[in-house]
Amino acid sequence: MAEPVLGGPATIVETACPLDCPDACSLAVTVQRGKVINIDGSQKNPVTGGYICAKVRKFGDRVYGPDRLLYPAVRKGRKGEGKFKRVSWDEALELIAARFRRAKAEHGGASILPYSYGGSNGFLTQDNIDAQVWRRFGTSRLARTLCAAPTGAANMALYGKMPSVTYEDYPEAKLIILWGVNPSASGIHLVPFVREAQKRGATLVVIDPRTTPLARSADVHLPVKPGTDVAVALAIHRHLFVTGRADDDFLRAHTMGADRLRERAEPWTFDEAAALAGVDASALQRVAELYATTSPALVRCGWGLERNRNGGNAAMAVLALPAVGGKFGVRGGGYSMSNSASWNIDRPWIAASEPDTRLVNMNHLGRALLEYDDPPVDVLFVYNCNPAATVPDQRRVLQGLEREDLFTVVFEQVMTDTAFYADVVLPATTFLEGYDFAKGYGPISLDLGRPVVDAAGEARSNADVFGDLAARLGVLGEDEPSGELDLMVHVLDHLPSGIGADLRDGRMAVPSFGASPIQFVDVFPRTDDAKVNLFPEALETSTPIGLYRFQPDPATERYPLALISPASDRTISSTLGELSRPDVKLTMHPEDAEVRGLADGDLVRIFNDLGEVHCTLRVAPAVRPGTVSLPKGLWRRSTRNNMTATALAPDTLTDIGAGACFNDARVQVASLPTA
Ligand code: SF4
Repeated sequence: MAEPVLGGPATIVETACPLDCPDACSLAVTVQRGKVINIDGSQKNPVTGGYICAKVRKFGDRVYGPDRLLYPAVRKGRKGEGKFKRVSWDEALELIAARFRRAKAEHGGASILPYSYGGSNGFLTQDNIDAQVWRRFGTSRLARTLCAAPTGAANMALYGKMPSVTYEDYPEAKLIILWGVNPSASGIHLVPFVREAQKRGATLVVIDPRTTPLARSADVHLPVKPGTDVAVALAIHRHLFVTGRADDDFLRAHTMGADRLRERAEPWTFDEAAALAGVDASALQRVAELYATTSPALVRCGWGLERNRNGGNAAMAVLALPAVGGKFGVRGGGYSMSNSASWNIDRPWIAASEPDTRLVNMNHLGRALLEYDDPPVDVLFVYNCNPAATVPDQRRVLQGLEREDLFTVVFEQVMTDTAFYADVVLPATTFLEGYDFAKGYGPISLDLGRPVVDAAGEARSNADVFGDLAARLGVLGEDEPSGELDLMVHVLDHLPSGIGADLRDGRMAVPSFGASPIQFVDVFPRTDDAKVNLFPEALETSTPIGLYRFQPDPATERYPLALISPASDRTISSTLGELSRPDVKLTMHPEDAEVRGLADGDLVRIFNDLGEVHCTLRVAPAVRPGTVSLPKGLWRRSTRNNMTATALAPDTLTDIGAGACFNDARVQVASLPTA
């Protein structure tokens, strides 16, 4: 954070946080002499309630830190070395446009791979002018499935992404099941609402291999093995069906496919599911009985349960519970999932239609760079993400980025691990230096963030740069927005009625169904027939072994430990991973440490056939035996050998949604000789 300047007047400017986090906080930023000196929560968004996470409090350290990119630059050393020479924006963009044209002439537009994810996450920073450029130039398309793809696909298939229970209604629930989610790290504003529910007498169940802060105060904690959630959820379904507590009236009136689901749940007795998941069968039975008998009952489906080979089916089985149990129709009852689609805004302002060009799954970046040859990837344009640190099979990704014949552009706020491999780096503005729309996917909130300070150095917004590039490539349509201000006004004009006016006037927008809808009272499934499709046939045929089925654990004798890499209080994505953090540690249960002769504080190597990571060991019962945990979002500098958990993650895909299988990493851990 910038040092306060003595004597100067300080002003507080309101804006909103668009980062990839469910909460979308309203912010009060103190600015003195054109510099950010303090960032805090404001009261504008009632869910923010005047406080924010420690990460964004320190966001000034990114804006003014030593890693900030200030000027366009071109590589002058070896790839990965990080040596660059400053150039003008004009030189940089001309060079990029020339390489685009050359790649298209030699191997077609699909030899250009745009690569982006949720690093900025606002409406303006992706899927706008950038999308027009990629579509009109005919580049490869990117399947953005690194996160939330399986849960998103399940939510879409079952409910058409019906808006779900928001934070404010948690205190109404009498039973809350937090499944594969740790709000204390990712979505901190949910915690007081859960605590309030507990104070009012609600029962809390946490299903998670880790003993999270909320698991410590839960009435029941099921520390399931990673990848087994589908079996646990099906055992609860089976209990509902066989004990006559499935809501037959609701199933008849509002669902399809209940019989097929019942069939698939039939084998999952408590004993079968508990043995597979490594939990106590009586504890599982207690959860099922609580769910059968309590209302309002709320299931919060997180993203932790999706990051494995069974992730889509797990999300299907968990999200189907309130339909089978008849838990809808009351405040505080139903399910809670991402509310990002609640606004039903499908970006009508993107004029270009999507071409039928090659679709590259972003989890396969290493393969794409090293193996794809029809056509090869000649140009890689990375923005809003840091694949060198975050994408599975890190070793292969780095090998791909080292290719001398690959022309890589990285458009970023700071010098990321990926930027070290760039041929051209372009400096991007942060959300404190530009406009963006912050859309909550926990609370249903939408706010317009405004610039609070000028851009550092020569940093430019995504809209400005893609507008400029579009013009140079000759793909900018007449009268189309070509810069940030232009685009912001254009988007405001095209938002559904009322929303744009609220945002323009400085108010947070509220959807037509209200900010806290009751499922099956205020909102209904957005499927074609407005019914819950409990057994979507299309998924049954496209899923490797069918719906609601379990694929066995990939553990072997050599690599018996499941490595998970969950969000931490410092990083829920890789954004801000550049900021210094205390020694990164692998967490291991005491039983696993003892059989390996390891002790707290040891230096260890975590390894499998894909790679290895060196770091310090923390021995604690914070994770179940047989599972070890390393934080998500680490940058390479965070570990002793510059590799992160993604070095150990296979690039296999989930059963539904083609998502990443981070938690299918199976590893061994051994002492690292200090010599
Ligand atoms: S990252 Fe999340 S908790 Fe932190 S300020 Fe942004 S929205 Fe709020």
